[in-house]
Amino acid sequence: MPSTRTARLRLLPTTPQERKLHKLADAAAKAWNEVNYLRRQQFFAKQGVDLRGTYREVYRKYRDVLKVNVGQVLNKNNEAWLSFFALLAKLNAGELHMKKVSPPGYWKDRLLGKRVKRLIVRSDRYYVEPINDGEGYIVLKDFGMRVRYAGVIKWSGKQGRLEIVYERGRWFAYLTVEVGKPAKPRQYVRGTYDRIQIRQPRGNKRAFIDVGISNLFAVVIEGSDKAILIKGTPLKAEYFWWKRQKALYQSVRDVRRNLGLPWAEWHRRYLRALWKMRERLRHYRNTAVRGLAEMLWESGVSEVYVGYPEDIAHDQQSEYVVSVWGYRRLVQRLAEVLAEYGIKLYVVDEHSTSRACSICGEIHENGRVYRGLYVCRKFGVALNADVNAARNIAANLGFETPAPRRIETYYPTSNGLTPKRGNGRDPHSAAPAL
Ligand SMILES: [Zn+2]
Repeated sequence: MPSTRTARLRLLPTTPQERKLHKLADAAAKAWNEVNYLRRQQFFAKQGVDLRGTYREVYRKYRDVLKVNVGQVLNKNNEAWLSFFALLAKLNAGELHMKKVSPPGYWKDRLLGKRVKRLIVRSDRYYVEPINDGEGYIVLKDFGMRVRYAGVIKWSGKQGRLEIVYERGRWFAYLTVEVGKPAKPRQYVRGTYDRIQIRQPRGNKRAFIDVGISNLFAVVIEGSDKAILIKGTPLKAEYFWWKRQKALYQSVRDVRRNLGLPWAEWHRRYLRALWKMRERLRHYRNTAVRGLAEMLWESGVSEVYVGYPEDIAHDQQSEYVVSVWGYRRLVQRLAEVLAEYGIKLYVVDEHSTSRACSICGEIHENGRVYRGLYVCRKFGVALNADVNAARNIAANLGFETPAPRRIETYYPTSNGLTPKRGNGRDPHSAAPAL
């Protein structure tokens, strides 16, 4: 598991600093767009993309303004092309469940024609001067700037590249840290922790988790007759709310454009909704993950087995599944947070865990009935379908979990996980499971 973490800090530049940041970030975007343009030309002309030649050409052009940091922008573009080529190879080999892949895009808003402002600073061309736990300065050596920041740096270690991004009128710094890795004083970031594992597991139980959409996580724990559900419904609601806002702004924008009326304001609203949606979903996901990690730790869990749902991962690459849920990102995040508790996460095959019955072991046709309920046709008992799947993950691995007597349901909210009993949406969440 990689030990790299990213701190997100709010930058508070003075007015002259801000002017300078705009200029630099704009130059970085231009460099990205230029090298990307050359590469796209070569790609579409089927000439083969000359990563080196184009790199040199653009490097020379921007080195006066951006110094060595232009190389960071070009490296990032290299990475984007290399992962595009890797995807393309997979697509051609028929290993991808997508119809097409696109070459890297521009740092630009297509409609407004405005460049996306993003400056990348090489790992040895800046340093951090904390004042206290929540603020300090970032010193950009090549640009003679010392910019104030606000935000907590959680991890200590060797600093990686720094990305400075202009988002919705604010500047943010994304600082990557290789946690615990020693470095020279001015390339060592001091945070609260110098190692990822902060706590020790309290026991050595195993937990088995089914990841899904209406229940983000359905959890059963070895030796425990309590099952845990972390609901995905707040994310769903959030997603559909912003989706509607986006559609509204988009359609007003397009009508106004077609009529020759001013439309840019509506495009900005659309972009704002897009940003808000991403931020909110990220917040809810993190809340769910943090809350679950805490609960697992308190229950004495030291190992977690997460099912890899083949059906969702492959067949339904819908916008909803990707943007709200994003299995890979969700599980990656869970693994990272669990590591802080000393809990290991393993992804396991989830073959037929949603169809099989965890009570009698058979596969009942139509076992899964309405509203996420699974009914054992043999004994005529019902339990939550996702809890059933989680129990099957355990059973597939040779572990027995006690028949769940109660299910605890939690909702991610804007401030933490809230337990909920007897809600109207899921009639089975509070009822005895069997
Ligand atoms: Zn059964």
